Amino acid sequence: MLAISAGGAVTASGAGPTALTAGSSLDAAGSIGSVAGQALSRRGALVSRDSTRDSGEETDPELVALAEKQMAEREAKLAEMRRAAEKQAAKIKENKWVLPLASYQITATFGQYGLWASYHTGLDFNGNSGDPILAVANGTVTETGYDGAYGNKTVVTLDDGTEIWYCHQTSIYVSVGDRVNGSEVIGTVGATGNVTGSHLHLEVRPGGGDPIDPFGAFVDHGIVP
Ligand SMILES: [Zn+2]
Repeated sequence: MLAISAGGAVTASGAGPTALTAGSSLDAAGSIGSVAGQALSRRGALVSRDSTRDSGEETDPELVALAEKQMAEREAKLAEMRRAAEKQAAKIKENKWVLPLASYQITATFGQYGLWASYHTGLDFNGNSGDPILAVANGTVTETGYDGAYGNKTVVTLDDGTEIWYCHQTSIYVSVGDRVNGSEVIGTVGATGNVTGSHLHLEVRPGGGDPIDPFGAFVDHGIVP
């Protein structure tokens, strides 16, 4: 509001439409990060108005100083917003999941009835025994070993507490406590446990609780399996 009244007052003292534009751009600059350049070019307008004043027109220097101070504050604020946006983008990228196998077909989806005790609690990625399994996201290994129907299983707990279960493996390459990054090879596809053929059975368990549909979880984290 101060910006507008500053603009108005400058206009009244004779600087004309340039000052008005400067005033309204100050106001507009507040909302979006991409207008920083605009704000800078407005500053240019302000400077050229100053030279007009030098050539004889009257303008209150205090108002100009106030307008410039506010412009600088807006710019600082915009820079801060840009930094926050970049940080957020980096965070999203960091949380983006990757696919666990380089080549696969989805052979069973979450909630299907069939071979399983009640219903299928994960997503099956068909692969050959020995194919590398990649961690789908950053996390810490919290369990490894043979687990009945699941066969050789690795559990990686992501930073948000979500457990990712990798099952039926031939080999497990990581140990409890290991820090793993998305895309890192953590083991190989196999046919251990209750299976009819080699594949990766992957489960997603938020907070270590009941499994949710991994397909939706992948989509939520930026990738369609
Ligand atoms: Zn399965």
